Amino acid sequence: MANSKYEYVKSFEVETKLMPSTWIVLRIDGRHFHQFSDEHEFEKPNDERALRLMNACAKAMFEEFPDIVFSYGVSDEYSFVFKKATEFYNRRSSKIASITASFFSAAYAIKWKEFFPDNDLKSIPSFDARTVCYPSIKIVRDYLAWRQVDCHINNQYNTCFWMLVKSGKTKSQAQAELKGTQTQDKNEILFQQFGINYAELPEIFRKGSCVFKDKVEEIVKYNEKGPVKRLRNKVIIDHCDIIGDKFWKDHANILED
Ligand code: ATP
Ligand code: ATP
Ligand code: MG
Ligand code: MG
Ligand code: MG
Ligand code: MG
Repeated sequence: MANSKYEYVKSFEVETKLMPSTWIVLRIDGRHFHQFSDEHEFEKPNDERALRLMNACAKAMFEEFPDIVFSYGVSDEYSFVFKKATEFYNRRSSKIASITASFFSAAYAIKWKEFFPDNDLKSIPSFDARTVCYPSIKIVRDYLAWRQVDCHINNQYNTCFWMLVKSGKTKSQAQAELKGTQTQDKNEILFQQFGINYAELPEIFRKGSCVFKDKVEEIVKYNEKGPVKRLRNKVIIDHCDIIGDKFWKDHANILED
């Protein structure tokens, strides 16, 4: 099979090798999810089942690809940070993006019924993926902070928008009412008109979701003295603040060199 006269076509392939010794950040985003979420009657602004399905797919990614050290998800997107020294697919961007996006899409379809037992999957879900190399911990953290700030801004806007729409305004009236408003104004609208304290909304909506490994104390068996506990490395899904320093101080091993 080797060395046929057609082999030369291989030389047209372009390498897409990512820079060594940098954190590879992969971001996956649902394709046409505005439409997909309408078609599947997602609750607005936040369908918790859909968020939990995304989290389950991210957890499956963690279990399948051991070089992932951290991931952060909001709406129809998920970012995955690979460790700095990863040699996953020889750091070939097209391999990494295509394999992970297809894995994530397949996981989404397979797990759909677990989270939407009463809704049929009516179309084929697909996700795009891109890879970016970041050369320092500071920049990786700034990247993650950028996504979490985006989550906050979008969620606050969408919460106001959908409360106005659900209270009888048209979409364009709601849009007009929110035009030019600042964070404080939106909090006021929610509180004055709807009695909602934004800070008390579920963390999964306000902060997005983080997936990472952590040591967790687990009961492994019981003996005559009572439960026997061990520290186990487990994949955790949490809704932490990843903008401030605390999380990164408490989990300094995640982004270590
Ligand atoms: P593209 O293919 O360019 O990514 P898109 O339609 O997926 O287009 P996005 O900017 O990615 O656009 O936005 C995703 C949209 O999916 C959101 O605006 C929202 O309408 C919807 N969506 C995603 N997740 C949820 C959720 N958990 N609950 C409700 N709506 C959601
Ligand atoms: P990689 O992840 O590098 O692509 P691979 O295991 O998928 O590794 P390939 O070179 O792509 O390796 O080969 C695919 C293999 O899958 C074949 O060698 C064969 O063993 C198996 N395979 C694929 N399609 C079929 C099929 N229709 N019937 C039987 N075996 C198949
Ligand atoms: Mg997009
Ligand atoms: Mg999308
Ligand atoms: Mg999106
Ligand atoms: Mg193959």
